Amino acid sequence: MGSKLIDLYSDTKTRPSDGMRRAICEADVGDEQHLEDPTVTRLTERTARLLGQEAAVFLPSGTMANEIAVAAQCRPGDELIAHSSSHILNFEAGGVAALAGVMVRALDGPRGMFDAKLLDEALRPRARHLPRSRMVVLEQTTNIGGGAVWPIGQMRSVSELARSAGLAVHVDGARLLNACVASGVAASDYGTLADTIWLDFTKGLGAPFGAVLAGSSDLIDEAWRWKQRLGGSMRQAGMMAAGCLYALDHNVERLAEDHRLAARLADGLRALPGLRVEVPETNMVYFDVSGTGHDTETFSVALEPLGIRISRQGRHVMRAVTHLDVSESDIDRTVLAIASVIDRTACAS
Ligand SMILES: *Cc1c(COP(=O)(O)O)cnc(C)c1O
Repeated sequence: MGSKLIDLYSDTKTRPSDGMRRAICEADVGDEQHLEDPTVTRLTERTARLLGQEAAVFLPSGTMANEIAVAAQCRPGDELIAHSSSHILNFEAGGVAALAGVMVRALDGPRGMFDAKLLDEALRPRARHLPRSRMVVLEQTTNIGGGAVWPIGQMRSVSELARSAGLAVHVDGARLLNACVASGVAASDYGTLADTIWLDFTKGLGAPFGAVLAGSSDLIDEAWRWKQRLGGSMRQAGMMAAGCLYALDHNVERLAEDHRLAARLADGLRALPGLRVEVPETNMVYFDVSGTGHDTETFSVALEPLGIRISRQGRHVMRAVTHLDVSESDIDRTVLAIASVIDRTACAS
């Protein structure tokens, strides 16, 4: 039959490999809710160490990790500060308001990041008629911000300012290991700048489920209370955790290959007329198609029958994400396909 779909929509589109499926099948399991699952315990202890934290809790998703971290550290009426493009403010169905009752303050700044100066301007003085500034959230890497890596110095100055003002620091680490591979900075160096930090196993790491939230033992105790409350406590979850452990063993260093292919895609696209392409720092390539005279819908409709899927970020910008189910020849086919769409639309107009 025809060739497989080249799915650059997101790095969530990976399928578990044969080796990962075997590890999942053979997992040693127990009742996770009673801390009796040895595979989950291995994963949480290993992730806590990796992130330079005392303790960790296994969760079904990264969204739940964000929501629990906020709920465990903020009280209703407190204010949370995050970038305007962040996942926590845009793609979690308003959870921080609905579940934790917090107000949000959105900051801008290039590539999904802000600096200590911008944060300083947003911090509220302590006064009983003001909301209490309570938490700052940053994404490593930034997603809608372009897959950018917070430089460790900028993250440190934001974290130090936040902590000195009595705020908690939460790092959304959906793609933290992409940042580590791209920058050479150890995960624990980012981790010690955070009060809570998590890893997602379902993005570039290629597992079918799972995220681990890490922090101090006290905070993780409180996170467990929220996990129970939200129905996130599980039973023989070692079958989930085994895929995550397999990912830590096999799928971390290879993220460099995703970054290489993203750079290759960006170089290929940059040579085509009418495209404005951002320089990728990790595995995401953002490009603006408005110079072709057409919008993103024209491109996605034309690419679909060619077996290529790329997400639309509004009318002008598209985002292609590389991952372990994308090969170099897939990237080269993608560049050719986009070139053919530009040629065709140029003739039609
Ligand atoms: C995907 C993502 C999340 C949510 O993770 P899920 O495991 O899909 O719930 C949170 N933050 C960022 C930056 C993400 O990209």
